[in-house]
Amino acid sequence: MNKVNYHNHTYLCKHAEGMPIDYVKRAVELKYSEIGISDHGPLPAAWAHLRMNRDEFENIYLPGIESARVKFENKIKIFSGLEIEYHEDFDYYYPKLLKEVDYLILGQHISMLGNEVHDLYHFMNDETVTNYKKLVVTGLKTNCFRILAHPDVFMYRYTAWNDLAAQVSREIIETATENGVILEINCNGIRRGPIFNQDGELTYIYPRIEFWRLVSEYPNAKVIIGEDNHSPRLTGDESVGLAADFAKSLGIKLTDRLFGEKR
Ligand SMILES: [Zn+2]
Ligand SMILES: [Zn+2]
Repeated sequence: MNKVNYHNHTYLCKHAEGMPIDYVKRAVELKYSEIGISDHGPLPAAWAHLRMNRDEFENIYLPGIESARVKFENKIKIFSGLEIEYHEDFDYYYPKLLKEVDYLILGQHISMLGNEVHDLYHFMNDETVTNYKKLVVTGLKTNCFRILAHPDVFMYRYTAWNDLAAQVSREIIETATENGVILEINCNGIRRGPIFNQDGELTYIYPRIEFWRLVSEYPNAKVIIGEDNHSPRLTGDESVGLAADFAKSLGIKLTDRLFGEKR
């Protein structure tokens, strides 16, 4: 396996530290062959305050990735990306972003309850789980996203696995697989430590064992480890090995390539 990681943030999202070059430098020290910078993307209108703004994206973020490329391109392959929420109102916007960065990660952290926007770390019920699935599945079909970050993060507040959780999971896994989107085992969930599920089985909040057990039933599903680093210091920490162990224990094969062999 090549050492790669396509999920790294920067200080611009206001809850992480470091510039692209800091992550690239650390990855070079640790002999990674590829790295992607994928901070939370700028969002239009009402959601804009949650993320870096357009001005920061153009004048700090993209130039920051470019200067890391200039300095390190002979040592590591560097991709520019963004992690971003999906909402159909922004369908016009994702293809535009793809002219500016190499790839988009679909990272869904919000769900709708009627017209209310809910942050899924704070609130989740049957209706918002169903809406989470609807947003994610619609997003996966747009052909704009290469990776689905923490697909099982909806379990953060939902907690007990049930028929709805299984049904939502299957639909997400099947849609990702049909559309060639890579499912991410997210290291940031592992860093939160293990928990017991409702059956007394050891898991993480995410990656959630019931979700990934379903993934293992789909031999064509593509799965990758995403470090989701919010500090360069976390690059290659013990969560990465734990993520690999987690996949192995379920018989899940991992990919280490964001793009096919051609690139
Ligand atoms: Zn973040
Ligand atoms: Zn995320």
